[in-house]
Amino acid sequence: MSPAIELIDINKSFGDVHANRNVNLSVARGTIHGIVGENGAGKSTLMSILYGFYTADSGEIRVNGRPVAIHSSNDAITAGIGMVHQHFMLVEPLTVVENVMLGAEGGTFLRAGEAKVRAELGRLSRDYGLDIDVDATVGELSVGLQQRVEILKALYRGADILILDEPTAVLTPPEADALFTLLKALKEQGKTVILITHKLREIMAITDRVSVMRRGEMVATVETAETSPPQLAELMVGRRVLLRVEKAERAPGAPLLQVENFSVIDSRGVLRVSNVALTVHAGEIVGIAGVAGNGQSELLEALAGMRRPVLGTMRFEGREIGFDEHNPHRMRQLGLLHVPEDRLRMGLVPAFQAFESAVLGFSDDPKLGHGPLLDHDAMIEDLKAKMAHYDVRPPNPRLKSSKFSGGNQQKIVLAREIERNPRVLLVGQPTRGVDIGAIEFIHRRLIALRDAGVGILLVSVELDEIMNLSDRILTMCGGQITGERKADETDEQDLGLLMAGVTDRAA
Ligand code: ADP
Ligand code: MG
Repeated sequence: MSPAIELIDINKSFGDVHANRNVNLSVARGTIHGIVGENGAGKSTLMSILYGFYTADSGEIRVNGRPVAIHSSNDAITAGIGMVHQHFMLVEPLTVVENVMLGAEGGTFLRAGEAKVRAELGRLSRDYGLDIDVDATVGELSVGLQQRVEILKALYRGADILILDEPTAVLTPPEADALFTLLKALKEQGKTVILITHKLREIMAITDRVSVMRRGEMVATVETAETSPPQLAELMVGRRVLLRVEKAERAPGAPLLQVENFSVIDSRGVLRVSNVALTVHAGEIVGIAGVAGNGQSELLEALAGMRRPVLGTMRFEGREIGFDEHNPHRMRQLGLLHVPEDRLRMGLVPAFQAFESAVLGFSDDPKLGHGPLLDHDAMIEDLKAKMAHYDVRPPNPRLKSSKFSGGNQQKIVLAREIERNPRVLLVGQPTRGVDIGAIEFIHRRLIALRDAGVGILLVSVELDEIMNLSDRILTMCGGQITGERKADETDEQDLGLLMAGVTDRAA
């Protein structure tokens, strides 16, 4: 039997970035095939070529043994390929049926066809256990269900081969489990699934075979049963990496940061953080686990002085922070430093040279001169030393901030905040978009800070990261703290329920 998909010697460049370099991939029919690789390895590019978003500079695509020309997503659909994107392509005010009809032959205007579509969707939904109300408005469905609608849409269009690009990034652990059950059911029915993820746990749990990409090249394809997370990580990075950082038991010290009754509204006046109480002690990492968008970002920004709380008290080393003190400058003076989640919007100024971005918020440091008379040479030397220490590539302080990759931007912001001797460090998504090798480094730095007595509040949507680093874990859902656990007394299931707002402890 010929493979469902064969990609042969695929090349694709964007300017001088060679995103796919002589890539070969063969996906057997009726299997779940994982593709892993660090950020920027070329996974999404490869799948976009398969789905007709990009055209390869050279190479060949075969579907079920036959060469096909795929120049648009319509060509891909005709070849039986469906794709579920990282960002859903659904129209929220429309119902499931309307979304499926939209873009299908004839468009939404062929009302006559609606009954037929509804019947067919109902059948597919039942056959695959999708459990979708086809008359529901898409915008009112949970993210997990919207993802199912995308899958349903692909199946309706006759997809035999389904590509999912980082599908669990937006899901809670129970939703991710449900997705995996569904993918297994699709496989049972003879469908072929290509699953892109950077989560090795997911690869191990569900795939039959896994291909590893590194810097645009396909470096290996292995049977899942014959590999392990450390081996995959090594293939991804090109050297051995520690997936878990060693962390010694440590008794926390005095409370450094305390908030009570803390409530925050966003710029549109919507309540995003409601009545939160938390304490961060010296020498402790407190992790906030939650699905993106549940108030954790707004909480962090408010604690950093970037938003004012509408209610509540905040104490730093026992002293109450007045309303008039609630600004980033004052927080910095106190030793409350912040590595923002959105480093391009708040951490760096894209148009500034790196050395200028590296002193944002600290321009009153006497070492660097004063006001408009900032000493550029001193700033450049200072950043050069940090770049060496943090392995920032390229180590060029004069390069524009926007020219660094996400991981390297993150290292510049981290270096800036960490090297200022924080008392408390607020960190948002420290490793989003960061390579595994750099993740290891960043995690080690955070634990070293904690061991040196710094209190750390960590917000991350990566549950692994929260569990790996935290001493204590708080969960957030709908703007509220829904639970608190010691890191060694909980697991993913337990946290997953709390993240979904189920607050009764699962016994
Ligand atoms: P992955 O999905 O593995 O994270 P991508 O395929 O998205 O990687 O990216 C591979 C490389 O190609 C990266 O260096 C990325 O910056 C670059 N790239 C991807 N898409 C584009 C594009 N449309 N224009 C320019 N560069 C791109
Ligand atoms: Mg990608």
